[in-house]
Formats: sequence, C-alpha cells, structure tokens
Amino acid sequence: MDFHILTIFPGFFSGFLDHGILRRAIDTNRVHVHLHDLRAFTHDRHSTVDDRPFGGGEGMVLKAEPIAEALAAIDIAPKSAREPGDIVILLSAQGKSYSQPLARRLAAPSATAPRRIVLLCGRYEGVDERINDLYCDLELSIGDYVLSGGELAAAVIVDSVARLLPGVLGNEASGEFESFGPVDDEITTDIEGVPRSQHGSGGLLDYPHYTRPADFAGLAVPEVLLNGDHQQIRRWRREHQLLKTMRNRPELLERAPLSRTDREFLAKIRQLD
Ligand code: SAM
Repeated sequence: MDFHILTIFPGFFSGFLDHGILRRAIDTNRVHVHLHDLRAFTHDRHSTVDDRPFGGGEGMVLKAEPIAEALAAIDIAPKSAREPGDIVILLSAQGKSYSQPLARRLAAPSATAPRRIVLLCGRYEGVDERINDLYCDLELSIGDYVLSGGELAAAVIVDSVARLLPGVLGNEASGEFESFGPVDDEITTDIEGVPRSQHGSGGLLDYPHYTRPADFAGLAVPEVLLNGDHQQIRRWRREHQLLKTMRNRPELLERAPLSRTDREFLAKIRQLD
C-alpha cells in the first residue's frame, strides 16, 4: 500500500513513521509513505501556499494551484478522468466521520481496495473547496473537534489502515479481536465454530487486559483470569466487553450481534445500575 501525504509540514511525520508497527511495515515494504511538500509546487519568491478568503473573514485558505500541481506530479487526475485504484482523501473537520469499518475497507485486500491513498492535509481555514470538488473521493473527519492542521488526522488514517494490511500485525486475526471488530457477515469463527466475536469484539469495545504482577497497589487481577479455565475466561471477557460498551459507548450495542446470554447479562446489569 502506498500512502501519499500532501502537506506544508512534511517534517511533522518523521517521528511518527519511525516507531513500532509502522516502522516495521515500512522496513518490510508492506507500506510506503511518500511525503509531498506543497511549497515545492509554488512559483513565487515566498513559496506562497495560502491566500485571503473570497468574501472576507478571518484567516487564510490553502490555494488550489499548488495542490493541483502536487497531485499532477504523482499522476492523480481529477476524479472525472481518473483510473480506478487511487483514492484521494481530504482531511477536514467538515468531513464524514472516520471509523474502523472504513479503515477495514481501505485496507481490504480486494479488487476494489485502493492501490494508493492520497491524504490532503489542510491548514489555516482549510483548502479551496474546488480541490475537494475536483479531486477528492472522500472528505473525512477524525472526530468532532478542530485540529490546527490535517497532519494529525492523516497520521491517524495511515496508522489505522496500515496495521490492518496483510502481514503487518504479527497475528493476522488480531485486527478482529479488538475494539470495533467486524460485525455481521464479517464475523469469522474459531475451530469450534464459535463466533470469534464472542471473545473478540463483534463491533463492541474490547475487554479489560491485565498482566503481572497479579497484585498491584492493593488491586488483585480478577480471579477467573488466573484459573486456566478457558470457557470461564471467555465468558468473563465477553461480559466485560458488554459492560464497558454499555457504560462508555452504549450506541454500539444497538448494531452488535448479541446472543440471548448477552442480553440476559445486560438486563441484569441494567437492573443493578
Ligand atoms: N475552518 C475549518 C472548520 O471550521 O471546519 C477548520 C480548519 S482547521 C483549523 C485546519 C485544517 O485542520 C483543516 O483544513 C483540516 O485539514 C484539519 N482538521 C481540523 N480538524 C479536523 C478533524 N476533526 N478531522 C480531520 N481534519 C481536521
């Protein structure tokens, strides 16, 4: 997978690309990240990338021409003339919400998955809207807050997509067994035919994790995790997934496939709360 990031601050990404899973994915050629400095596509003495907004008002707007030139330099044509295989994403607080299912779609090894993902980072008041109209397939927001620039949002997308690419995580299945894991037809089963989501995620939040020491600051690890009974451990984990989801993100329960036991557990908890 090739990521192309268009930014006025390419230096922003150096630390981010140098660590952990992403570093390994780059070193093993599973991921390539290409940084493009928009100032390199300007033609004036001051390398001007921004200008005042038409209609007046606060702030500056990123100009269309350097962005169009940067896109042309990596063979990205306007949407109307583009071959399939590339996807251009505008990072924007006004965009649709980015989520794990979309990360999975962007990473999926299929004929429709993108070959290149181009991420356009805004700054100031944003990007001249004609770039969005002409080139961008998706306008994405990483959350309901306003960042100073699209670089952090681009980093979030690179990280969350890259870790789902084949071979990037040590265990192929670990992308399923975590918060916001696949639901419905995406669910896989383990060797006993039990939906993995029953002990993974299935669209819910992950369960709590513990490691040694078994006692820390007077708090003991839940006994059930120490007794080696895998059936009981699975049930405990499922219940605590449900509990966390109910308390922190109750809306996720509405879409998640829940068994009768799950529903009975939730009903009991709601009565106690
Ligand atoms: N005037 C814009 C608004 O009110 O929607 C905010 C512009 S913001 C200061 C500058 C840039 O940061 C945006 O062009 C965008 O690229 C990026 N940005 C800010 N918030 C974001 C978010 N929640 N998700 C993705 N990108 C964001």
